[in-house]
Amino acid sequence: MTRKPHVYGNWKLHNTLNASEELAEAIAEGTKNYAEKVNIGVAPVFTSLVNVRRILGEVSHIKLLGQNGYPKPNGAFTGEVSFSLLSDVGCDGVLVGHSERRHLFGETNKLVGEKVESALQTGLEVILCLGESLSEREEGRTWEVVEEQLESAMFHVPPVSREKLIIAYEPVWAIGTGKTATPQQAQEVHALIRGKIRESWLGDAADKVIILYGGSVNDKNAKDLFSQKDIDGALVGGASLKPESFISIIQAASESQQ
Ligand code: PEP
Repeated sequence: MTRKPHVYGNWKLHNTLNASEELAEAIAEGTKNYAEKVNIGVAPVFTSLVNVRRILGEVSHIKLLGQNGYPKPNGAFTGEVSFSLLSDVGCDGVLVGHSERRHLFGETNKLVGEKVESALQTGLEVILCLGESLSEREEGRTWEVVEEQLESAMFHVPPVSREKLIIAYEPVWAIGTGKTATPQQAQEVHALIRGKIRESWLGDAADKVIILYGGSVNDKNAKDLFSQKDIDGALVGGASLKPESFISIIQAASESQQ
């Protein structure tokens, strides 16, 4: 089955309002010709979401994503932003369980699962991020860790929401480090993830699910990663902050379809 590649940019904690608007404008302009072949998305900081939505327009070939959310719709949760509020400001989707959330802010598999459930109930597309640390890989525990992250989150995905779930395999040791997993290393885990989904979900759901790779993807390594059978695109951090490199990665994704 051919799956439409997806390339999503995670802007992390970068960019003022003005810088976000300029970046969104440049990406929207530079990617028009790829819209038919590639699903594109950007995840700005919360404070830029409303303005980036305005720059992109209500109907855009670029999806607007939140970087995180809280599983309760409202209440006494100072400092948090709920998935329903993300939806209210025009987000199409949201990252859940990014490694920086798990490792710097202590998010557990249980909390990530609750977030997946709440975000899907709100109607958002969920990009579920998972991946092993360097020590877990060195101890030969990569699949044990990734399988547990996947299982505990999939439990929260009702059949009606399956097509709104995207998986991003992001080995922690490759995020922001300049060390990319080799295409073979990434493909191996992607195939295991798809196999696990095949075991759990009946029908052709596993063939349809989009599995992105993330971890120092750039305009030089994207083509080889996208040539792998189970790699359906990328979640891009650093290289999504420069329009030229992000657009080159999107171009590589569109060419992987030819
Ligand atoms: C990310 O933030 O999800 C990411 C993969 O970052 P980078 O591309 O900078 O490694």
